[in-house]
Amino acid sequence: MKNTILTITDSLKILSHSEPDRPNIGYVKGRDGFCFIDAGSSESHADLIRQMIDEPSQDMDKYLVLTHWHWDHTFGLHSFNECISIAHENLISKLKWYKSLSWSDEALAKRVSDGEEIPFIRDCLTKEIPDRTNLQIDIPKIHYKNEITINLGNKQLEVFFIDSDHSDDNSVVYSSEDRCLFVGDSLYPDIYHKDRYTFKKFFPLIEKLKTYKVSTLVDSHKDVLRNEQCAAYIDSLLEIGLIAESSGSLEQAKNQLIKKTLPFLDEWKYEIADNFLKKM
Ligand SMILES: [Zn+2]
Repeated sequence: MKNTILTITDSLKILSHSEPDRPNIGYVKGRDGFCFIDAGSSESHADLIRQMIDEPSQDMDKYLVLTHWHWDHTFGLHSFNECISIAHENLISKLKWYKSLSWSDEALAKRVSDGEEIPFIRDCLTKEIPDRTNLQIDIPKIHYKNEITINLGNKQLEVFFIDSDHSDDNSVVYSSEDRCLFVGDSLYPDIYHKDRYTFKKFFPLIEKLKTYKVSTLVDSHKDVLRNEQCAAYIDSLLEIGLIAESSGSLEQAKNQLIKKTLPFLDEWKYEIADNFLKKM
């Protein structure tokens, strides 16, 4: 799977997700500036991200929003020095912690055996950046608490915090001009706690996302969704959550789910229900 630049409109492009764990990266352009959504996983990923920039861009304001702290979204930031980088305040301590760590094979192996890191991340990171001796982890320049607006001239980007099981520094980005919603990894479970979802965080997240008018939905690790696909994906996830909540056991949830065909999530529906119901 290769990274491909998808041109949604003249002022909205997405560099598509790809192996080993590269997320979708957004590029939103206004009259006076542009903004990237996420910094990518490495310098080489960042080089591809830059190809989305329309020339000439010297006089434009340049922004970059990090959706959350995980390496696959943040390790490219060092390559975007000219951008005003923005993230939720909870991201800062996570990246400082990342900076304090050794990223050698040995150190990664130890963190995996100590349960501090998961094998999937070790495997993807070592593929993406085989030589990590000069790994530079940058801290974003601006952080916010509840929400922040980025002014691109003729369009504004609304960046808001909403708690998610996946991370507690989760930023979602909305361009009303483009009716485009970047949800990052919001809709994924807590990968550091057995892929758990909690009803307490999940339902308010879905409720908030459903208030936006969306014709392009960018989930970091899925193909970009358009038009009626956007609501169909979120509704599928919501339905699994509601069935899990009313079932109380995986067996009961499976009995309900077997009767349903859930767009975009059908092959994972039992696994997702299990993520809601598993006991820690
Ligand atoms: Zn993530």
